[in-house]
Amino acid sequence: MPGAAYPDIIPVDQWLTLYEGLLIIAGPCSVESRQQLELTARGLADTKKISVFRAGIWKPRSRPGRFEGVGAEAFSWLTDIREETGMPVAVEVARPNHVELCLKHGIDIIWLGARTSVNPFLVQEIANACRGTNIPVMIKNPISPDLRLWVGAIERMAQSGIKKLIAIHRGFQSHPKSMYRNRPHWDIPAALKKEIPGIPIVCDPSHIAGNRQLIPEVAAKALAMRMNGLMVETHFAPETAKTDPEQQITPERLNDILEELLRPEPLMGKLLDLDALRTLIDEKDHQLLEMLADRMSLSELIGELKKEQQTGIRQPDRKKDILADRQQKGTELGLSKVFIKKVFSLLHEESVIIQRKKMAP
Ligand code: PEP
Ligand code: MN
Repeated sequence: MPGAAYPDIIPVDQWLTLYEGLLIIAGPCSVESRQQLELTARGLADTKKISVFRAGIWKPRSRPGRFEGVGAEAFSWLTDIREETGMPVAVEVARPNHVELCLKHGIDIIWLGARTSVNPFLVQEIANACRGTNIPVMIKNPISPDLRLWVGAIERMAQSGIKKLIAIHRGFQSHPKSMYRNRPHWDIPAALKKEIPGIPIVCDPSHIAGNRQLIPEVAAKALAMRMNGLMVETHFAPETAKTDPEQQITPERLNDILEELLRPEPLMGKLLDLDALRTLIDEKDHQLLEMLADRMSLSELIGELKKEQQTGIRQPDRKKDILADRQQKGTELGLSKVFIKKVFSLLHEESVIIQRKKMAP
C-alpha cells in the first residue's frame, strides 16, 4: 500500500557527527588514485567540519568511452582513509553486487545516484541486497522532477529494514537549458520533508550548480530552505579531475564557504520563513528569465523568416489574438486581466523590436 512504510528513521545526529548542526559530506566526484584520495581527504580532515567522506568508484557516464571509475581497487584506499582521518566513507552503488562488495569491504555508507533512484526495478534490487544489514543509505533525487519516485525509492529502502537514511537533493534535469546544470526545484525537497518528516535532507550544490562559481549561492539557498546539510564535490586539484572538473572545489575553498555561510552565528538558528520564501521566489524569477530568453530567441527566428518571405512586421490581429488568449488563460490561473495585458503588451513590443533588428537590411 503506498505510504504504508513511512520509515522509522534513526535521527542522523545519533550516528554521525555534525558540524554546527549540519551534515557536511565532501570528497571527490570519483576516486582516481590513492594519492588523490589521500591529499583530498587530509585537506578535508584539517577543516574539522566534515561528517562523511564521499567518493565514487563506479561512475555512471552518459556516453561510453569515458573514465568509468577505478572500481574495487579503491576499497582498501578508502578504508585506510577512514583509519587515518576518522571520517566514515561513502560510495555510490548502482547494482546489487556493488552493495555486496561495499559490505564485504567495510564501506560505512552507500548512496543511490540520480540515474538509479529514477528506476524502481533497480532500486528494489538494491533494497533487496541491503535487507538484513544495517548499512546506512543515502538516496539522491531521481533525475526527473518526480517526488513520488524519490519517496518510493526511500520507501523501498525502508521496507528492507534500513533505518539510517538520508535524502540528497541534487537538482533535476531540465530542457531547455537552465543557468543550473540541474534545476533545484526547491519546492520538491520541501514537499519531501512534509511527506517524510524524519528524513534528513542534504543539498548537493555541486550537481545543481555544475560550476564552482555558483556553489556558494546554491549552498546559501539550501540553508535558507532549512536543509540539514551539504554534499560538496571536493578535489585537491579540481581542474585536473577526471570527472566533473568544473564543479569541484578544493578542501580549503570548501572551508571558506562554510565559514562564510555560518558567520557570525549558525545561519540555521536565525532563519525566518521569509528566507525560504525568497529562495522560492528567486528560483521562479530565474526560470522566468530563462523562458523570456527562450521566447525572444523565437522572435529572432520569426524576424529571419519574415525577412526571407518579405512579409511586414506588424500583423495587428496577432497582437489582439495573443492578448485575448493570454488573458483568458491567465484569469483561469487566478491572475488579473489588467496585469496580463500589461505584461504581454510589453513582451509583444519587445518581440517587434527584435524582429525589426533582424529584418534591417
Ligand atoms: C556523483 O555524486 O558524483 C553523481 C554521479 O551524482 P548524481 O547521481 O547526482 O548525478
Ligand atoms: Mn559528480
